[in-house]
Amino acid sequence: MNTPTATTAKPPRIIRQLPAHLVNQIAAGEVIERPASVVKELLENSIDAGSTRIELSLEGGGVELIRISDDGCGMTAEQLPLAVTSHATSKLPDDESLFHVGTLGFRGEALASIASVSQMTIRSRAEGEEGGCQIDIRGGVIETPGPCGCPVGTVIEVRNLFFNTPVRRKFLKTPQTERGHIVEAFTRLALANPKVHFVLRNGDKEMFDLLPTTRWADRIESFFGTEISEALIPIENQDETVQITGYACDPSVSRGNNRMQYLFLNGRHIRDRALQHALGEAYRGMLMVGRHPVCFLRMRMPADMIDVNVHPAKLEVRFTDSGRVYSRLLQTLRQRFLSTDMTHRVGSNPVPAPMSEEEQRQTVPESVMGMRPNEVDQQRQSVIEWARTGGPPSGSSATSNTQMLGGASGTPDFRPFGESNSIGQGSQSATGMTGQSAPLASPNTWSPGSAADVDSPRPSTAAEGIAMTPWDGDNSGSSNANDSGTAGSSHDAAQAAGVPTPSVSHLGFQVHQRYLVTQDEKGMVVIDQHALHERVLYERVCQKVLHEDASLEAQQLLVPEPVSLTPAERAAALEVKDTLSRIGLEIEDFGGETILIQSYPAMLPNKPPADMLRTVLESVMGAGRDPNPKDLLNHLLSTVACKAAVKAGDPLTPEEITSLLEQKDLYQETHHCPHGRPTALFFSRDELDRMFGRLGPRGRASVSP
Ligand code: ADP
Ligand code: MG
Repeated sequence: MNTPTATTAKPPRIIRQLPAHLVNQIAAGEVIERPASVVKELLENSIDAGSTRIELSLEGGGVELIRISDDGCGMTAEQLPLAVTSHATSKLPDDESLFHVGTLGFRGEALASIASVSQMTIRSRAEGEEGGCQIDIRGGVIETPGPCGCPVGTVIEVRNLFFNTPVRRKFLKTPQTERGHIVEAFTRLALANPKVHFVLRNGDKEMFDLLPTTRWADRIESFFGTEISEALIPIENQDETVQITGYACDPSVSRGNNRMQYLFLNGRHIRDRALQHALGEAYRGMLMVGRHPVCFLRMRMPADMIDVNVHPAKLEVRFTDSGRVYSRLLQTLRQRFLSTDMTHRVGSNPVPAPMSEEEQRQTVPESVMGMRPNEVDQQRQSVIEWARTGGPPSGSSATSNTQMLGGASGTPDFRPFGESNSIGQGSQSATGMTGQSAPLASPNTWSPGSAADVDSPRPSTAAEGIAMTPWDGDNSGSSNANDSGTAGSSHDAAQAAGVPTPSVSHLGFQVHQRYLVTQDEKGMVVIDQHALHERVLYERVCQKVLHEDASLEAQQLLVPEPVSLTPAERAAALEVKDTLSRIGLEIEDFGGETILIQSYPAMLPNKPPADMLRTVLESVMGAGRDPNPKDLLNHLLSTVACKAAVKAGDPLTPEEITSLLEQKDLYQETHHCPHGRPTALFFSRDELDRMFGRLGPRGRASVSP
């Protein structure tokens, strides 16, 4: 059927064997993603070489220079050219050994890959050799092998990473970010090898000098400080095959993500979804929803129980019996928690925010007080319950458990629309919600989202506002006699004058502490209180920050609060420092892993500043790769709005309900919260009538389309 023509002819393609340098560049794409991958591979080699001291120096985030020197076994002049050839390794002496790998490396690819995308120099001297040998490789081409003087061990310098693969280079982030990734890689390897002396230098600044130690907690402390080291709960469990040792952390030092779960398997750092899940299960009932435990666990098992050859960068492993490993980890932790006096620990733990009560009182608005002790108290109760029954607190559904641990609903002085909100709506709501009256915004005066709406006080007198009887025809309950008395006539008058009737009655009530039920002239509206409040706040902060180019109000801390972060968090924080200050969160680099919080968004008074910073950073890191500053700002504003908004489960006073419903008028267009969930469900009277079997053909005709 298909007659070949000149245009559709398909001559056979030419298949060619790729030259070695191209093969290596392709392989490098899998193994070497960024400077941190180089650091990981080189550190692993130094550890495999039996080094007791390893020094790492960086310039320009590792892109300009990575230099690693070790005192390991070194290489001879004959070995050097082979070491930089692909698929050449000393770690698989026979073919069988792939199935019980005992070293970190085994693929024989790293040096060849790195050498193919950088300018690399290796100087090495093996034990018993007269002198050392040097080899230079530029973009995979070996330039000048020759003798050199050097001590036993190896020094590798990698310069100008990706100089010959510009596309890869373009994908690199700022030196600060790349350095953050390097520090994370360094952290993992230094944690896994506490008996090795590690030094990390960035430019001329020494970042870490980690003396060898047999106490793992010392090494952990030198990375994460006393906040973590004082919360370590030792874990130890061993059967014939699997050994688990290390530390699980007290629930008080939980995190909003699982990046602080350091798992090591046979000396190798791994990430494993199933094991992370097991950790989450072990802490069930002890952590607030959305929080993740912090752990440092070392597992040992026979090499033939795992396959390490499933990931190019060896980040993941496969277990021959993953179910067994999962349940071993879970059981080990559970048993440990049951035999530990967790109640005491939770109650008396070092509070993460290193501010004294007095300082907190001075810096944080009144409504916050009582929050933390209360929260701790609830957490303690839940742990007592958990420890007794091994399950969540009895009689509490998953939801009520969430609420209880969530804290916000238990805040005694909860004032969702009070003065503490920084952007001006506090006073506005206050004037609008006196007594039980239901002031209405007239659509003619209040157009959605304009600057005037946001900042000028809204009219609130009954005469101006009320145009319609709340709960048409049924004035029982909370509706005010005044309102209902005048309502009918003003409604008629308004219609006669051609004034469109306002869309929402601001009387509503709360059901199940999460929804508000109200009406407009066409039917019934059920509103998600959190989603609406979030939307309202989001519009306001966007107006202020994006359109008026102002910053959110900042609450200054009398004493700047130090927070220790993971290297990646810290790098992210410093990179977006300016954007953070636009939302009122001012930070300073303090050196090491510490950052000082100088002020925080005044809209978020009932979160300890350190937690708040971490929440914001999670949001920053979740914003995707390299967002432009405006997108990031927008993203952060939606985070602030979400965190500042009332939550499902927050009881609202009638005034607060009215105030929230009033604000809906300002943002009629916005039917969705910033996350895209609906803020309100609408049931037209037509629909209700139909559902109740009231709507005849004539009834239908009377309803406008
Ligand atoms: P692999 O680590 O998978 O064997 P690499 O390409 O990383 O592959 O290294 C190739 C070989 O070079 C290693 O097997 C090892 O023999 C040698 N080598 C690399 N780095 C060092 C070092 N720092 N000290 C001693 N030998 C090294
Ligand atoms: Mg290697």
